[in-house]
Amino acid sequence: MNEVRPLGEIASYHAHIYYGDAAERQYAEWLRLRIGERFRVRLGTWRDAPVGPHAQAMYQVSFATEIFASLVPWLMLNHGGLSILIHPNTTNPKRDHLIDPLWIGRALEVHGEVLGEEDEAEEALEVNTAPTLAV
Ligand code: ZN
Repeated sequence: MNEVRPLGEIASYHAHIYYGDAAERQYAEWLRLRIGERFRVRLGTWRDAPVGPHAQAMYQVSFATEIFASLVPWLMLNHGGLSILIHPNTTNPKRDHLIDPLWIGRALEVHGEVLGEEDEAEEALEVNTAPTLAV
């Protein structure tokens, strides 16, 4: 029998917003501003070169589980063709990235081999946005 995994395994989520050429980076900038105006999240550093398991330039958005139901559908409508990886943060980063994530837009390669299978589940990082607009 399979064992049911409880939602409590998920400490937080990341959205990784990928971009390639200058036009995509410009859209990613636009999107980042719009996210910051609307959602209580942690907007991460711009990574113009591949880092960790991420095979393409991106920035990370860290968010609490209660933000998922509004942010993720909003990204579905507003990703503008960019690829976005949404993954849970549990105690198994490799599984979070390779087996259990969802993609908005086209799925990209993820180098999961650099990730561990046992780690402390990452809580949502400190919010650095001050949203004023409704979604
Ligand atoms: Zn991540």
